[in-house]
Amino acid sequence: MKQYILALDEGTTSARSILFDRECRVVSMAQHEFPQIYPRPGWVEHDPMDIYANQYASMTECIAKSGVSPAEIAGVGVTNQRETAVVWDKTTGKPVCNAIVWQCRRTAEICEQLAREGCGDMIAEKTGLRLDAYFSAGKIKWILDHVDGARARAERGELLFGTVDTWLLWKLTDGRVHVTDRTNACRTMLYNINTCRWDEELCRLFDIPMSMLPEVRSSSEIYGEMNLMGARVPLCGIAGDQQAALYGQGCLNEGDMKITYGTGCFLLANTGHKPVFSRHGLLTTVAATGRDMPVQYALEGSVFVGGAVIQWLRDELRFIKDSADSEYFARKVKDSGGVYIVPAFAGLGAPHWDMRARGVITGLTRGVGAEHIIRAALESIAYQSEDVIQAMRSDMHSEIGSLKVDGGASANNLLMQFQADISNLQVLRPAQKEATAAGAALLAGQAVGFYRSLSQDDTPCTVFKPMLAAGERERLLKGWRRAVQSCLSSEESDI
Ligand code: ADP
Repeated sequence: MKQYILALDEGTTSARSILFDRECRVVSMAQHEFPQIYPRPGWVEHDPMDIYANQYASMTECIAKSGVSPAEIAGVGVTNQRETAVVWDKTTGKPVCNAIVWQCRRTAEICEQLAREGCGDMIAEKTGLRLDAYFSAGKIKWILDHVDGARARAERGELLFGTVDTWLLWKLTDGRVHVTDRTNACRTMLYNINTCRWDEELCRLFDIPMSMLPEVRSSSEIYGEMNLMGARVPLCGIAGDQQAALYGQGCLNEGDMKITYGTGCFLLANTGHKPVFSRHGLLTTVAATGRDMPVQYALEGSVFVGGAVIQWLRDELRFIKDSADSEYFARKVKDSGGVYIVPAFAGLGAPHWDMRARGVITGLTRGVGAEHIIRAALESIAYQSEDVIQAMRSDMHSEIGSLKVDGGASANNLLMQFQADISNLQVLRPAQKEATAAGAALLAGQAVGFYRSLSQDDTPCTVFKPMLAAGERERLLKGWRRAVQSCLSSEESDI
């Protein structure tokens, strides 16, 4: 009777709904974009009602166009943009203001003040995070400090906080369920990843009443039921987008790693049952697991400019018309001709963490053509990812086993082969392109016995094997390091 699982994938720019069958294949999909609100430079907001309305619309469209009866759906899983903060009235269900989105920088000053007070180490030890405006705690504090009457209402227990998963579940259950899962909780900066509880000291530090916070559950269990077009269907999976992708890629064992090559690149490596705290600027995060399973952790690092360097070739340099053309032109030359591009357009992240670094192109000679530059741009995505992989290698106590890939730019075979070569790792690109939504579907399906175990070995993958001789790899990496060095900011450049 039950033949399908529905995944709700609530991203930063659009809400998508995807229906999966018993083999976790996509049966139907619908996507609705919602408005981005930029009230001031550096500020980013979403209207929580837009998020809900668009998620709801995509859900009904996805089911309606599939021809599937809602009664055939065994469960619903949610995956979402992380860190974005919503605060609403417990009784009326009305948000007190727009959601403050993860990208929003308005709380940078709150974080800098805490850093000056010397709170950074304590926060890192408890949460695995760097003191930064990305995370929810500062955003909640900002709302309570700036929205008229909000703090008094929060102290009287009238307001609730949630990341986007919590908000959606609360709306979908008509206000009966106020929960989140560990993968979202650990991005708020209020959750202690060692004890797996909300942390009183952190809540005091950010001046946030604990009565606002949702109950924290595992990523795969029944949280409640929703009315899905007349059918009662369990809500039974939650994971933040990156951890959902890690799960959907089958990275369930220590040493398993995935890279999502989108506008930026997100790298996560499963580190097993103990949190690994980085000495190289990576974040420690909780991975998605079910109710009866021990908690797992992951190291996370990101590359700010990944596929975006290809958009730059297309839109600013006008070397190509379409991102996919980058492969065609890069293959016209046998290598990048000694050219390196470090696309530090907005500084460099892990492991360098230099916000003042700016991009460079090195190694230009008279013979360099557009094809060399295009090839160097593609290679820069792999080199930057390799820098994060190296940081993970030094932090982890285990070897990196598999490297699974997804995201728009993972379609580029030249880039995937170069990643395998430069990282000396086998790169596996699964045929399943919807790793994030599939992760949410698997978590939901496992909670209700719809999916048994992950049979990842059966998943068809394209394999890229490392083919580069060690000496040649070292030579190329040396050139890259030199190029990076030349773009890092120095004391003198501040003058
Ligand atoms: P996001 O989820 O961040 O919007 P996507 O996963 O949709 O990103 O990937 C889009 C990014 O990947 C863009 O930056 C685009 O330039 C890049 N991209 C897409 N296809 C290719 C390709 N074949 N080769 C190189 N880059 C690509």
